[in-house]
Amino acid sequence: MARKQIFAGNWKMHNTLAESRDLAEGVIQGLGDLKGREVVFFPSTLHVPEIINMAKKSPVKVGVQNMYYEEQGAFTGENSPVMVKDIGCDYILIGHSERRHVFGETDQMVNSKVKAAYAHGLVPMICVGELLEEREADKSEQVVDSQLRGAFKDISEEQAKKAVVAYEPVWAIGTGKVATPEIAESMHQHVRKVLAEIYSEGTADSIPVLYGGSVKPDNVEGLYAKENIDGALVGGASLKVQSFLDIISVG
Ligand code: PEP
Repeated sequence: MARKQIFAGNWKMHNTLAESRDLAEGVIQGLGDLKGREVVFFPSTLHVPEIINMAKKSPVKVGVQNMYYEEQGAFTGENSPVMVKDIGCDYILIGHSERRHVFGETDQMVNSKVKAAYAHGLVPMICVGELLEEREADKSEQVVDSQLRGAFKDISEEQAKKAVVAYEPVWAIGTGKVATPEIAESMHQHVRKVLAEIYSEGTADSIPVLYGGSVKPDNVEGLYAKENIDGALVGGASLKVQSFLDIISVG
């Protein structure tokens, strides 16, 4: 089955507004034939309206890196799904490992955010992945299994078909230690197996599963060659125009 292929840049808490503008402009101008691939930027929420404006006439989609799940109210410092949709975002990144492990986001919160995304017409890009100690204890599949079941709890099959999953082993994020294509492919197969158990093989086959964790121009090729790797969620290497363009144009 031909799944959507997606390359997303997670800009995290980097860049002044001028730097985000330069980065967006450089990537947008440098885009060649995307061969049907989708490109997504996740800038700082403060920069999102400006970047959406810049990306309007390009094929690039924009999302935010986090949101709260309530529609409005006394939640100082948070942004709601209504606001994210209202400023014109397509995507919402949910359950990134930094949200889970730095800010204590639980599977239950991830699930509430996934529900809020669907309620407001946003595409959830749901991140899962194990810590180094979990990999060393041979628990990677178990961890990813329960993160997926948590994220998709009470999500209908029709809704799930619109999701994107990113497998991001925590030990590979921002560390320069990329998973080998074999490790990544085996975890992506596992993600598909769990999705097939929750829904059906057809649905599992239709959901793009991206790899994330120290993806760079010099390692993307081996990863992207694998059958179950449908693109990449890129942190550090998405902050430089040329390295992100090189990643997007792999293969
Ligand atoms: C990420 O932010 O999701 C990520 C994978 O970061 P990096 O590419 O820097 O490891």
